[in-house]
Amino acid sequence: MLQNRTDSLRVGNLVAHPGERIQGYLRVGEMQDGTQVRLPVILIRGVEPGPVVYIQSVSDGDELNGIGVVHRFIPQIDAKELRGGLIIVPLVNFHAFHARQHMSPVDGKKMNRCFPGRADGSSSERIAHTLFHTAVLQADLCIDLHQGGVRPMIDEVRVRVGQDHPMHKACLELAKVFGIGYILDEQGPSGQLAQAGPDHQIPTIDPELGGCHGWDEVSIRKGVQGLWNVMYHYGLIDGSPSVPETQYVVYGFVPIRANRGGFVTPLVGLYDLVTGGQELAIIKNIFGDPVETITTPVSGIVWSTALYPMAATGETIITIGAQPNIISNRETV
Ligand SMILES: [Zn+2]
Repeated sequence: MLQNRTDSLRVGNLVAHPGERIQGYLRVGEMQDGTQVRLPVILIRGVEPGPVVYIQSVSDGDELNGIGVVHRFIPQIDAKELRGGLIIVPLVNFHAFHARQHMSPVDGKKMNRCFPGRADGSSSERIAHTLFHTAVLQADLCIDLHQGGVRPMIDEVRVRVGQDHPMHKACLELAKVFGIGYILDEQGPSGQLAQAGPDHQIPTIDPELGGCHGWDEVSIRKGVQGLWNVMYHYGLIDGSPSVPETQYVVYGFVPIRANRGGFVTPLVGLYDLVTGGQELAIIKNIFGDPVETITTPVSGIVWSTALYPMAATGETIITIGAQPNIISNRETV
């Protein structure tokens, strides 16, 4: 049940009273020379009561589309017209971001395996712990903006708790409302924020905004629209969500692997619907001769493709979102 909060928002030393927008930093540790490690935090407190939404991005250091989303979305929010509040952390994985890599160079960990964190743990675990306990736990809804790393991937939203989890329905509802058209509904590995949030009764989704180096304009626009949809649906701002009439839900992936090494000529593209037995790609050797035709064993959606046009034996060249279910949103939003 969403709370009707009217008190001030507080994260660390930052306080936003009703009608205020505050930005600053949350201390989460020190670098090896003693320099403070600080995460940027934006607090926007509406005048009227309503739910608090927590939004974070760059939990994985090379996934920058979320920052693009936050930079477009936040300036459009007027605290005087907001109900409830927003807590935004645009850059979570400080160390990985500065190293321009996916995982933290300090402890070699992936941040999205570290939630809800450990106060006495490694660098990433301590950052996750501070964020989770000072910011996430105040929220009624949680949105963890990701992307498929730098590999090309469709824009989609993930529900990461199992279908028997008490918060599954609320998480799936949030994913539908985000309204990007494609949902992965599959229990994820432990340590994901999209599991730790629901374990503390906070519906959480993990939007995966494409996959690219740097910023992708189309993915960022979809992410911004997704946040507006959440604002409208849960009553933080007056308005109507813009959600596709039907959305695809898949419950798992099937990796399509090359058996022969060589260069990949794709016969399908992202978002394509494929049927079992369909040809997906041709592998050519270094002389340009075809050596293998790759087919899919299952029907589904072309969910992601390889970054480079070549593959060694056993390497995944395409991932299929298997056997999609088509759902209607009419009863939802
Ligand atoms: Zn990620």
